[in-house]
Amino acid sequence: MEVFVCGASGRMGKLIVERVKEEKDMELAGAVVKEEDVPGFMPDTELEDALKGHKKAIVVDFTEPEATVKHAEIALSMGHNMVIGTTGLTEEEIEKMKNLAYESKASVVLSPNFSLGINVLLKAVELISQKLEGYDADIIEIHHRNKRDRPSGTAIAISQRLVQKADINSIRAGDIFGEHIVMFAGSGEKLEIKHTALGRDCFVSGVIRAIRWIYGLSDGEIHSMEEVLGL
Ligand code: NAD
Repeated sequence: MEVFVCGASGRMGKLIVERVKEEKDMELAGAVVKEEDVPGFMPDTELEDALKGHKKAIVVDFTEPEATVKHAEIALSMGHNMVIGTTGLTEEEIEKMKNLAYESKASVVLSPNFSLGINVLLKAVELISQKLEGYDADIIEIHHRNKRDRPSGTAIAISQRLVQKADINSIRAGDIFGEHIVMFAGSGEKLEIKHTALGRDCFVSGVIRAIRWIYGLSDGEIHSMEEVLGL
């Protein structure tokens, strides 16, 4: 499996590059960065030419929305598969990638959260929400101060699973990796479900799983992490 990692100098990208190098069935074909002339890295202006030399590579992208769309335009139109973790993508941007994948029969795993725990939480809150239909629901998400998007993509995904209309409360503080709390309150009782990322490893492990899952697939579809995990 030949893997390109876009955003290789970022918090997530650095860890993904290290893990891909450790996996025996994977080969790091390119650590792609925004900057020019960084020794050992590939500027994204070279991505298109680099991909021409590969038949069916997997392009992992943890950058920012504009860059992700640019990389998808290059990689998907050439039939390469992608694993995308960038959050804050608009509906239009996702639609654009859907069309690109469909036209070239490339496959994509797109998820705002690659951790097993959050994907199980998504299933659980869907059930709880239906059973507690008349209750109020609130979402609280807490992330490190450098996170750009607000609310988090995960909080938006949680809100889409609820039958109740939920407010999302976002807190940006310190170096917290990621915390999501979903609270249901009715008369005389409250039910809370909470996930805490204790590091970025939970996301990286999910990315590695998604790379293996999507390898060789050519269905022109965008897939979720829940599909990868068989939930
Ligand atoms: P970061 O700011 O540390 O890293 C982003 C990197 O992308 C930076 O190094 C930047 O230089 C690079 N970049 C920007 N434009 C580029 C381009 N055109 N080509 C190549 N590289 C480019 O951020 P981060 O914490 O690593 O997070 C990155 C994204 O992943 C964010 O959207 C974040 O919300 C998301 N994220 C998703 C998950 C998940 O499980 N899906 C987990 C953590 C973070």
